[in-house]
Amino acid sequence: MRRRTLRRWQYPQVEAGARALARAAVAVCPSRTTVVQALRLLQRRRAPLLVVHAHGRVGVVRPEDLRRARTFGLGRRSVADVAVWTVSTVSAEASEASVRRLLLSGAPAVLVRERGGVVGAVEPFRRAPGTASGARALSLAWRLERQLPGETLGLLRLVGRLAESCGMRVCVAGGFVRDLLRGAPTQDVDLVVEGDGLPLARQLCRELGGSLVVHPAFGTASIEGWAGGRVDLATARRERYAAPGALPGVTPAHIEEDLARRDFTVNAMALTLNPDAFGSLLDPFGGQRDLRTRRIRILHPLSFVEDPTRIFRGARYAVRLGLIFERWTRRSLSVALDLGPYPALSGHRLLAEVELIVSEPGWERALGTLGRLGAFRLLEPSYRFARQASRRLGDLTELLRWARERSVGLDPVPLVLLCLVGHLSASLAERCLRRLALSGEPLARLLAALVEGPAVSGRLGAGAALPASRLAAVLRDRSSEALGYVWLVGSPSTRQQIQWFLDEGRGVRPLLSGEDLLGLGVAKGPVVSELLHRLRDRRLDGQVSSRDEELRLVREWMTPSQTP
Ligand code: ATP
Repeated sequence: MRRRTLRRWQYPQVEAGARALARAAVAVCPSRTTVVQALRLLQRRRAPLLVVHAHGRVGVVRPEDLRRARTFGLGRRSVADVAVWTVSTVSAEASEASVRRLLLSGAPAVLVRERGGVVGAVEPFRRAPGTASGARALSLAWRLERQLPGETLGLLRLVGRLAESCGMRVCVAGGFVRDLLRGAPTQDVDLVVEGDGLPLARQLCRELGGSLVVHPAFGTASIEGWAGGRVDLATARRERYAAPGALPGVTPAHIEEDLARRDFTVNAMALTLNPDAFGSLLDPFGGQRDLRTRRIRILHPLSFVEDPTRIFRGARYAVRLGLIFERWTRRSLSVALDLGPYPALSGHRLLAEVELIVSEPGWERALGTLGRLGAFRLLEPSYRFARQASRRLGDLTELLRWARERSVGLDPVPLVLLCLVGHLSASLAERCLRRLALSGEPLARLLAALVEGPAVSGRLGAGAALPASRLAAVLRDRSSEALGYVWLVGSPSTRQQIQWFLDEGRGVRPLLSGEDLLGLGVAKGPVVSELLHRLRDRRLDGQVSSRDEELRLVREWMTPSQTP
């Protein structure tokens, strides 16, 4: 393909056209072909790509995706499940320029049609990892200079110089590049180094000041306490997943391979920092285009099967960045969910993703999206999201906003979990919570809350309003999870009662202390706390409001005939 392109430049009057650019040897198969059959077909035909037709659409299947699928035990699945369905199609007469435009805008392949059939495919030119770029890469140096605070820009230049002097290639990658392109403030600086990054990290730390934390097992290091924020430095790596959902094995690699292991196109971009190419953009998967068109797109069809936590990450990014899951990505996501459960996927990782979601604004929308996508089937295959869960998540935002305004401490994560499982049967809810690696006391509190919520809310809702002391007696000694859940399942008046209790009721104490009671002649022992509780209840019911009134009351109680 490359040689043909060069020929066109040597003889500019020759228009190569799509037909000439295409690799001729694509093999075509129907969508019922299995992964194993497809691999054999590619081998037999010695074709680099397989074209698959389904429901009037055309997709391509790459040998590496077929091999991945076979490793994951998906040999009998249809090739349609591992196809890339976002390819573009042109006629054989289409100009070379139009094909290149499609590739540059991020099309994973361009299929060439002639007489009703696909005769070939053009794939993006990817330079061999680690080799210098022949093509002129887009330079974002001007953006770096204009957008970054001085110390961050200085850091990037310094890193580039240090790496160059050690003969290494270094890039800043991931969210930093994404946010730079969005014109948003960049956060942590994620550096990726080809080669052993640790000596570079040490040198950098010496120059910057701050403290260095090294994780030799992962080939990563962080510099904290530097004035410009946090700097993470990692050795570029390739990842191999032995089982769906398991943690990957990693080996050192080139930066292009490091980008290829990432979750979404918008996170799979990097900027070179070495002085001769400072600021040049590596965007092999069309991340820039996806940012522009507001799409979340995976890099290969089995991305979610390799790591289903990416589904949660995707929902988080979708809300934070205002993106939507692109159609093929959604399809790959539902294939991944159909392939669950993922025994190798740890519950801790799933819970950590829920926590990350809850730590960001708009979390209820992210969780609602996940619910509608069916993502909570990762907890239990029979999990079904319900409108009730969605409504409770929305209501919870209200409760948490109120709690923040009144400085009432409520941990959102347990309440989110209760919203997600509250509509399920008790046994299914428990299985979901256990799948999130919850056990012991935290699990017991959630299970108790699931029972107490409807019971207490029923009790408060029935009959006339309780006096404050009775209400407090019903609510006292319950966990904040249980109180929150009573609020979530309760009527508006129950919600007011819970808010009153959280804000005021539970903090009410008598003005007299135990010492005061002993001073009044109350005998040491359980009677002291009993009297204090009585005083508290009188205060709750508005029957006493001053110290003198409490003193008078205690004296009355101590007179034998007046003992309440
Ligand atoms: P932000 O949350 O703002 O994106 P970040 O880019 O630093 O910050 P991290 O969660 O720290 O996000 O991850 C760093 C990079 O590592 C991401 O940009 C992404 O490319 C990659 N990454 C993280 N987790 C995964 C994952 N599960 N699968 C693939 N790539 C991942």
